[in-house]
Amino acid sequence: MGEETQPRPLPTVQERRRAFAVQVVRGLREAGHQALWAGGCVRDLLIGLTPSDYDVATDAPPERVMQIFRRTVPVGVSFGVVKVIGPRGAGEVEVATFRSDGAYIDGRRPESVVFSSPEEDASRRDFTINGMFFDPISGEVIDYIGGKHDLDSGLLRAIGNPASRFAEDKLRLVRAVRFAARFGLRIEPATEAALVAMAPEVTVVAAERIAQELRRMLVHPSRSAAMRLLMDFGLAAVIVPELLSLVGVPAHVAARPEHDLWEQTLAVLDGLPHDPSIGLALAALFHEIDRATTGYGAVEALNRVADRLKLANVERDAASWLLAHHETLNAPRSIPVSRLKRLLAEPGIGELLVMHRAVAEAAELPIDHVAFCEDYLRVEPDGPIRPAPWIDGNDLKRLGLRPGPVFKQWIDRAYDAQLEGTVTNPEEAVAWLSRQIEAEGSAST
Ligand code: ATP
Ligand code: MG
Repeated sequence: MGEETQPRPLPTVQERRRAFAVQVVRGLREAGHQALWAGGCVRDLLIGLTPSDYDVATDAPPERVMQIFRRTVPVGVSFGVVKVIGPRGAGEVEVATFRSDGAYIDGRRPESVVFSSPEEDASRRDFTINGMFFDPISGEVIDYIGGKHDLDSGLLRAIGNPASRFAEDKLRLVRAVRFAARFGLRIEPATEAALVAMAPEVTVVAAERIAQELRRMLVHPSRSAAMRLLMDFGLAAVIVPELLSLVGVPAHVAARPEHDLWEQTLAVLDGLPHDPSIGLALAALFHEIDRATTGYGAVEALNRVADRLKLANVERDAASWLLAHHETLNAPRSIPVSRLKRLLAEPGIGELLVMHRAVAEAAELPIDHVAFCEDYLRVEPDGPIRPAPWIDGNDLKRLGLRPGPVFKQWIDRAYDAQLEGTVTNPEEAVAWLSRQIEAEGSAST
């Protein structure tokens, strides 16, 4: 009798990443070194989340790490960081030598690092919840800084003296907000006092680093909590001052008479899907900014922020397209069908409708304009929304027109007629065009 074997399910990517991170710890230990999981992955495990990546801390110096593992990339050898590449699908693990950071010169980065002990490595980290180690072989949590206690009490606390920790690296001001929002933590009073006092100094941080934090806050489900904290702690005033124009301006939303435009914006952010694109989240964040109160509109506010924070062009373009077309879809039944069809055929239309839905739902207003467009997209009565045009340059030449600026206008008008249903096949289109050209030609002579 053949043995009945259940096919074993293939390990998931998450399982493979974890297994590889265990293997890296084993490899270092077999070579005679200490090795522990460190930082964010330990926090995530204690919360019950699956870590997105694993960091390993070790007493092995970077050169040693590169000898022990076959596939490595030195990512920051002066900081003691080496990336170890796993087998296909198992990700990569950052291995960092235990270190203490030397004096911070400019509120941005340490002047030097000294390789040291796990205790010292814990105390150079930013917040207690991020400062723990985990031994994946024994299952033991190694906690020198009271991170477990703070996590259990729902507290975000700077390690050591909050003011000096923020002074060393001012990006920590923004990271505090991101972690507090993401994990629903209160900020411990001394940490909060230092944060508020130092918020204006976040300007020394490189735009790209701030932008990266902002992105991570905005695409996370906790985005509205994060934006609220940025505003309340005075960080928005420095990073995205354009948003201040929303505060205290009545939103005139019947269902939410107490809401100003800022509260309304936060409600819209909450109504976005779990993992919106950064473009969609940015558009939602700025959509209420109004030229009437600020002198600049939402698109310009976005452009200012994108310039200041050096956002990528694709991010800026996506958000700006959504903002520019937002108004149009408020009354889709009252715009020409040709225009509606062209808009519905744009690649950003899905997100535009998602944004409209979030805006309407936040105001508890009907969403039939969204439903109307969605129905249109689902069952477009007269063929595809953006059919191939029936009229091209050759047809125009055959009708006796010479290539030039009017060419494009006639092509557009013929396409509008096609989309509107004024003409229903290519022959009709040619006939219609010929009549139009003749009529306008004789009118202008
Ligand atoms: P995430 O899940 O968002 O990546 P994380 O905690 O892993 O969170 P990282 O930015 O990947 O955050 O950093 C890894 C660890 O390095 C942190 O947990 C923290 O211990 C330490 N760290 C990162 N940035 C700083 C900083 N600016 N100052 C001090 N320690 C930091
Ligand atoms: Mg991380």
